[in-house]
Amino acid sequence: MQHLKILAAELLQLLFPSVCNGCGQPLVKSEQLICLSCRFDLPYTDFHLYPDNPVAKQLWGRIPCAQATAMLYFKKGTRVQQLLHNLKYKGKPELGVLLGELLAETILQSSEHWEIDLILPVPLHKKRERTRGYNQSMCIAEGLSAGLHLPVYKNVLVKRSSTSSQTKKSRFSRFENLKSAFSIEEEEKVKGKHVLLVDDVITTGATIEACASALNFAGIASLSVAAIAYTK
Ligand SMILES: [Zn+2]
Repeated sequence: MQHLKILAAELLQLLFPSVCNGCGQPLVKSEQLICLSCRFDLPYTDFHLYPDNPVAKQLWGRIPCAQATAMLYFKKGTRVQQLLHNLKYKGKPELGVLLGELLAETILQSSEHWEIDLILPVPLHKKRERTRGYNQSMCIAEGLSAGLHLPVYKNVLVKRSSTSSQTKKSRFSRFENLKSAFSIEEEEKVKGKHVLLVDDVITTGATIEACASALNFAGIASLSVAAIAYTK
């Protein structure tokens, strides 16, 4: 019977092999979600080694920010786009956790010590989270939480309104649209704390800025920002 089970599992693997979420190549037994070749060859930014990196600079003058980083460069048609697509649209929350763990490793190797108290994911509107089944930033935050041994709070930073499509708007009107979209529940959890805000991709920084203004209003001590990817 046991032999049959193993045979069935191997047959299943042969018919439907697990593939790498980055390059689509079949994974070998020891690999999980992302193949070794992708892990080594992904376009890492090394932003964590440079306090004045492009993500930090993007936030200068917009929000008071202690540290900021994004682990990978995002470009269309690359393995990074494939990874994030699989995370967001293919029902793979476990991929977010793994990417969060990898992000934690880079933060631990930072040139400066990140004195974080707690982690907050950039929230999705409840309706969208229900459709998707999970918030991808929460999955990344869980991986970070495991790697950095810090608590992550869900439903503290919340998205109130369902904002309309962001893609065709200018930076200013996007921000106007977003500014009132985030609020803080249970202010006492973040008051006086150093918060690490987590997102999947940082593009214009408008979402981060809108979250930051809600967090500042709630009286946080300082803010750091980490994302899986950065795109200009
Ligand atoms: Zn791969």
